[in-house]
Amino acid sequence: MAPEPSRRDILGHAVRGAALLGLGGTAAFLARRSDRESTWQLDVELCINSKHGEHPKDACLDCARACVLPLSAVRAINDHARCGRCYICPAYFDITSAINPDGLPSQKLCPRDAIQRQPIGEIDPQDPANNYYEYVIDETRCNGCGRCVLACKEPAGLSSLRLEVRYNRCVHCNRCSIASACPYDAYERKPVRA
Ligand code: SF4
Ligand code: SF4
Ligand code: SF4
Repeated sequence: MAPEPSRRDILGHAVRGAALLGLGGTAAFLARRSDRESTWQLDVELCINSKHGEHPKDACLDCARACVLPLSAVRAINDHARCGRCYICPAYFDITSAINPDGLPSQKLCPRDAIQRQPIGEIDPQDPANNYYEYVIDETRCNGCGRCVLACKEPAGLSSLRLEVRYNRCVHCNRCSIASACPYDAYERKPVRA
């Protein structure tokens, strides 16, 4: 049987535990402080996937591939105030795919099935073009590949989708591997926006 711990052992554990808690608390405090001061941010006016007026043939996949996290800290976000709530959204559907019997493209565009399409109000099956839908990004699936962002650009869409670093997911690497990979210098450490 293991010997009973002495009062001295117990005090020793307590002191070490308090010291570790103190260090952890300090580290957490510093991390929170540094989060508030500056974070890695993606400039949508430089990012080729997000920048208005740019229509490359393929999306830049570096945000999806270069992050140190298994699922990148970058996500597509939908500005719902700007979204046209289209019946056939070119970011949700692959509009080049065959039309199914319901008159809709048969394939979705997102390779990770990360966009949800939810009807708004009553749907009139006789007048499909005047039905409206909300498009919501599932952040547990999206990896920021940017394909939907490209497809939503004018004139096909209304540019309501853009890429953004999710600060609650980013681990704030000193040297962000996406910043190193980005071919457009669209990734910078900047003071936190007010
Ligand atoms: S960025 Fe890529 S993974 Fe995310 S919703 Fe758009 S197409 Fe899907
Ligand atoms: S700082 Fe690190 S975790 Fe954050 S986006 Fe860059 S590589 Fe990913
Ligand atoms: S790596 Fe740069 S250009 Fe490519 S998607 Fe990310 S921010 Fe945009």
